[in-house]
Amino acid sequence: MRWKNADYSGWGRAIVAHGEIARPERMSALDSLLSDAMVPAIGMLRSYGDAALNSAGRVIDMTRLDRMLSFDPATGILETEAGTRIGDIAAAFAPRGWLPAVMPGTGFATVGGCIAQDVHGKNHHHAGSFCQHVLSLTLRQAGGAVEVSPDKTPELFRATAGGLGQTGVIVAARLRLVPCKGDVMVVTERRIEGWDEFLGRLDASQATYTVGWLDATARGAALGRGILEEGETGSGLMPRKVTHRKIPLDAPDFALSKPIVRLFNNAYYRRVPESGRTVVRPIGDFFFPLDKIHDWNRLYGKRGFHQFQCVVPIGAAPALRDMLEAVARSALASPLAVLKRMGPGRSGYLSFPMEGYTLAVDFRNTAEARELVQRLEEMTAAAGGRLYFAKDSLARSSGVQGMYDEHGPWREAVEKADPAGHLATDLVRRLKLRSGS
Ligand SMILES: Cc1cc2nc3c(=O)[nH]c(=O)nc-3n(C[C@H](O)[C@H](O)[C@H](O)COP(=O)(O)OP(=O)(O)OC[C@H]3O[C@@H](n4cnc5c(N)ncnc54)[C@H](O)[C@@H]3O)c2cc1C
Repeated sequence: MRWKNADYSGWGRAIVAHGEIARPERMSALDSLLSDAMVPAIGMLRSYGDAALNSAGRVIDMTRLDRMLSFDPATGILETEAGTRIGDIAAAFAPRGWLPAVMPGTGFATVGGCIAQDVHGKNHHHAGSFCQHVLSLTLRQAGGAVEVSPDKTPELFRATAGGLGQTGVIVAARLRLVPCKGDVMVVTERRIEGWDEFLGRLDASQATYTVGWLDATARGAALGRGILEEGETGSGLMPRKVTHRKIPLDAPDFALSKPIVRLFNNAYYRRVPESGRTVVRPIGDFFFPLDKIHDWNRLYGKRGFHQFQCVVPIGAAPALRDMLEAVARSALASPLAVLKRMGPGRSGYLSFPMEGYTLAVDFRNTAEARELVQRLEEMTAAAGGRLYFAKDSLARSSGVQGMYDEHGPWREAVEKADPAGHLATDLVRRLKLRSGS
């Protein structure tokens, strides 16, 4: 198995690493790559910043270890290699009446990446986080493979779930899928006129899946206007056709200038009639709406972009409103701003979720954007909230450490699992997560 030198980056493309990458196809090849020393694993590089980068050395690309190994239709338990993509599991099993219990907003994320970030979906308020549906996983550590489960090895499990790959290479997992009606979604979309109405609707929603798109350029009385989508799985219905597109080039700077984004956001808001509507959509179109535009990250130009995502407790919702106001007042227009309600579910010491509201906003990579994100990070800390490591590329160590109360137990478990520090990545070093100072 050969190591290849390459430049690679996270989805935001704002930080580029250079290093050696190997892409094993068999477990035996993975074993031989790890025979001298442990190496961090990467999935589809859908984390935005530097969580999956190791500019100090090598990484192992797990995406060819993507075989689904067994499925029990009586229990819905799927055993799969860690490089399998969530969207492929959904596409294979939804027609048979099963879905991954939790799916992030991209179907390209791998099972290993979903475990290492303990990802959440549009049903977090009901279903909790991804690792709450992981029955066990196989972790390759320096001494060989170990089986890890919430009941038999709770500390190692909690350090691995959302643990940024620092306890070992996840090679396979047993996931509990959930029953679904079929492979289409029945989605009710309604316009929301402002911030208070949005929170009220999110709180009151009884739907299995909910997600809010915000017009982050709207101000004054319209601040917080957007579209609420509520979805249920369905069957026997014809979904509308989805066209797949590709962004062939890095877009020029003016493509996301404020007047253009304002026009886009206004049209996007008005595409849903005032009275709302219910539509039938293919399952992937609802769960992974951006995946149908290949390389959409190129829309932000060649300098890339940053995504800010935080969660704040329910009582701190006014702070989130202030953040949205700061975004709307800035000259930095964002076409992509998402608001979701979260429940308390989380599995790992460093899992992102907390009961409250999560806001995610994308910004082109400019000096003004970096300054604004820093301000938003400070507001998050002051509100008792957290930043999401899957999205972060800009935070500083001092800014994040108080956000995760179980950072201490995570560090101890990681120290035991990888005492030589071979698995550290650029994000772990930037935020000093393993050294703690
Ligand atoms: C359009 C879009 C929408 C998104 N929506 C959501 C969302 O709704 N909810 C959400 O929670 N996240 C969301 N994300 C983030 C995404 O789900 C996570 O970043 C996820 O980790 C990406 O998986 P990946 O396979 O690309 O992992 P990578 O980004 O390649 O790696 C992520 C982390 O996992 C580690 N890792 C990967 N594979 C392994 C392995 N086999 N063993 C050990 N460690 C490993 C890496 O070292 C790194 O620390 C979204 C991302 C995009 C691009």
